Amino acid sequence: MWVYRLKGTAAELDPLIPDLFDRGARGLEEREGEVLAYFPAPLDLPFGGVWEELPDEDWLSAWRRDLKPVRAGPFLVLAPWHPKEEEGIPLTIEPGMAFGTGHHETTRLALAALARHLRPGEKVLDLGTGSGILAIAAAKLGGEALGVDIDETVLPQAEENARRNGVGVRFLLGSLEEALPYGPFDLLVANLFAELHRELAPLYPKALAPGGRLLLTGILAEKATLVKEAMAREGFSLQEEEREGEWVLLAYGI
Ligand code: SAM
Repeated sequence: MWVYRLKGTAAELDPLIPDLFDRGARGLEEREGEVLAYFPAPLDLPFGGVWEELPDEDWLSAWRRDLKPVRAGPFLVLAPWHPKEEEGIPLTIEPGMAFGTGHHETTRLALAALARHLRPGEKVLDLGTGSGILAIAAAKLGGEALGVDIDETVLPQAEENARRNGVGVRFLLGSLEEALPYGPFDLLVANLFAELHRELAPLYPKALAPGGRLLLTGILAEKATLVKEAMAREGFSLQEEEREGEWVLLAYGI
């Protein structure tokens, strides 16, 4: 087995990830500022990474063994093979190609914020659902959740994860426009990126019910101002700002 090491985080390298899988990557892992892509053999790739041969071991079992459960707010994010013995609301997520295993700061910020903001019975939109983790968490907290994503490949994974967790969540292909007919929503959670939040800011009010709140993350701390300015222009007031590492979550009311 070979590993192709790329400098950067999974979020920064997100646009390359489908390409790596198209070219034969068998798995990806983020570790200490690097993304490791595992391949059966080295090949000519144009992404500026470095190849390294791994000792002959069962790398997949080693990776599965090393993957630890993750705590976020009241949740405990588990892979399907982890025992459910620790305290916390279990979220069982198969670590696959879809973003959202709980190992990224932004997912953890969003999970903790959902627990602080969501009241049972509320309608929740998870914009950019990936693995479905946030929509599934919202359903576990008693919300009525819809998850949307523009990447059709993640939706079967999100559906399977919802089934694994025994919750009913609707998933749809699309973005905010496609979700609007299912609204208005009491809570909108979106783990995207700063420039996209700026672009979507004029649409966010259309998605929210009176008294609705927004939980925006995927925002690098150095780009938070860009989102704050766009949201202020739309009349939103900042209620909360949380930070983990280089990442922030901004909570808004209207
Ligand atoms: N919600 C998961 C989490 O918090 O871990 C996944 C977040 S991941 C950073 C962003 C997801 O948003 C990806 O699955 C991507 O396909 C999706 N996405 C990107 N742009 C989008 C858009 N304009 N509308 C809807 N989904 C989008």
